[in-house]
Amino acid sequence: MSYPVRYYCPHCGAVFELEREGYLSDKSVTPYPLVGWEYAAPDEDFESADGVRLVCGEDVAGGEGSDGGERNDGGEEGTGDVVRWTGERSSADDVEDPTRESPCGETLFLSFVRFVDGEEVEPEPERAHTTIATDGPGGPRGTAGPRGPSGPSGFGQ
Ligand SMILES: [Zn+2]
Repeated sequence: MSYPVRYYCPHCGAVFELEREGYLSDKSVTPYPLVGWEYAAPDEDFESADGVRLVCGEDVAGGEGSDGGERNDGGEEGTGDVVRWTGERSSADDVEDPTRESPCGETLFLSFVRFVDGEEVEPEPERAHTTIATDGPGGPRGTAGPRGPSGPSGFGQ
């Protein structure tokens, strides 16, 4: 059982519909991949991944080459497309740049809720991630520490 669910591009607000299984819960649509999430292309078996990687404005047909069993080709508006851009535009607050050209062609990531051992997994906030990367106070430790064996200088004379 799959049906189209509406989302919008976080970059420009372009609205799209994704044909997907009803049992999956969405977490978010973001302009970057969440840490620890695995993404599949819309015409891949994304239901077994943690999310879908999409390109803004790019329609994706329900892959003929894929071996997926049941396919919903009785859609009312589409022809079984997995991703369909509606031509509408969201005016949500969290759209990065509502004035830019749309669709923008940027990559976006739809993340599903992940569970590990029955517990919902929270993504690491991107900010914490960059702080760790740029902030490097561990440097001086290596040079300042083992100063001990400088004694032998007097030995060689
Ligand atoms: Zn966009």
